[in-house]
Amino acid sequence: MTAIRTTLRYRSTRLCALAICLVAVMFSAALAEEATSSQPSGVDTSALSELRAAVHAAASAGLIADAQSDSTRADLADAPVYLVNLVVSDDLSEVHGMMEVSYTHQASQPVDEIAFHLYANGIGGRISVNDGRIDGAAAGIRLSDEETVAWIHLEQDLEEGQSITVALEFAASVPVSNIAHYGILTTTGRMSSLAHLLPLLAIFDGRWRVDLPPEYGDVLYADVGFYLVALEVPADTAVAGTGFEASRTTLSSERVRVTIAAGPVREVYLALMKDTHAVTTTSGGTSIRVFAPPHLASRAEQAGELIALALESFGDWLGTYPFSELDVVVAPTRAVGMEFPGAILIGESSFVQSSTDLTSRSGGPSFFEVVLVHETAHQWFHTIVGNDQTNLPWLDESVVQYVTWQHAEARYGAAGDEAFEQWLHNTYLRAGIPEAPLGLPTSAYSPSTYASVIYGKGPLFYASLEDEYGDQAILAALQLYLDEFRWKNGTTAGIRAALEASCGCSLGPWFEAWIYGN
Ligand SMILES: [Zn+2]
Repeated sequence: MTAIRTTLRYRSTRLCALAICLVAVMFSAALAEEATSSQPSGVDTSALSELRAAVHAAASAGLIADAQSDSTRADLADAPVYLVNLVVSDDLSEVHGMMEVSYTHQASQPVDEIAFHLYANGIGGRISVNDGRIDGAAAGIRLSDEETVAWIHLEQDLEEGQSITVALEFAASVPVSNIAHYGILTTTGRMSSLAHLLPLLAIFDGRWRVDLPPEYGDVLYADVGFYLVALEVPADTAVAGTGFEASRTTLSSERVRVTIAAGPVREVYLALMKDTHAVTTTSGGTSIRVFAPPHLASRAEQAGELIALALESFGDWLGTYPFSELDVVVAPTRAVGMEFPGAILIGESSFVQSSTDLTSRSGGPSFFEVVLVHETAHQWFHTIVGNDQTNLPWLDESVVQYVTWQHAEARYGAAGDEAFEQWLHNTYLRAGIPEAPLGLPTSAYSPSTYASVIYGKGPLFYASLEDEYGDQAILAALQLYLDEFRWKNGTTAGIRAALEASCGCSLGPWFEAWIYGN
């Protein structure tokens, strides 16, 4: 890029020694600029590099020692940087936000608009974008019909390698007793689960990928970015979720500002809680923090221990969990469990279920354990390697079911293996193994077929390969896949290539029969 004028905003950041103070500086300067200028100011590329380095450094404090180098990977140097400022109402249901996103276009095809997901409007919440700016200049905003996508108009085409700063001002309402989309975005007034709340850059790969699944599918498809999120919340609020609490500043006797740093992550999930009991368990360099209502304290302790065992197994098989925290939040949602980067949401009803065995066979894991282990496995297949959850849900869910099964066998031997298999048949495959192939978009399945194919047939695909080639070949393939796509998004071709490299075979007929369904 050619040299462009230095803006007030970026000059200000140079005065700031700590990355944490960037957020406040960025926003006060951006607001000042908003009041005085409507001219495009452009991006100062050296200031942008400085900003990126500062945010990457802040986020790296949330990575364990073995994963520190992930914050300086060359292939993440141009990852988006999000600076977010949120003001949350006293009852935790209203959020007013400003964000500045530094975006570098990485596709060869130029674009004349930028797409942001407004997932909240698709999952029972409400978010409106009130102002949009590109490099300081007011920009036109167009919303999709369902208002789940905001398109920000660019005055000039953005070419490969060019950077812009997109500033958005938004307001969001968090619904009470939300029944849409598992109720993962919900508030009780004392606890808010802010799932998929922040506007999120869509992926561009020749077109902007903004598809949404029906209500029974997971929604996320995003590239990783680095985040500093400052939240102004009531002083008695615990904040958990993605990333780690880098600072907490008292603003008054009633309000505090909490700053969260995170990255590399595909999004930031936040839970705000006024009545909670936190239990911390340690596994290697990671603190597992379980946040549950006080009357569930002993269950929270058990959950932390079960997750520590899962982190240990998966760490041995798939590579160490990269973050210094894994937060587990118990919330009144309809979801049994839901995965987020560095965080797990567990529905209160599944959390209070007794630790009965998974099936009538004794000696295997409890349902409680299977849910926790499943969501923990998503930290490898969703957080580290992402995928298009709307169009290729099998890529994360089916392998997560398979490694959860492996964990059951490793923990409980043959009894665990048999119990898990029987549970798959009882829960997902009562009507037999469906003919529908695994590799379809969520919308191609009915709700019941979606569950039986993706969660029931999917792990059987890996188990069949295991019968043929041995479990070590499958685990080696998963390691290859995780290595190849670390912090990227995986593909069906990618998992096939890893499996074929590992078994030294051609899996064409397997993929035809199970995945493509031709
Ligand atoms: Zn899952």
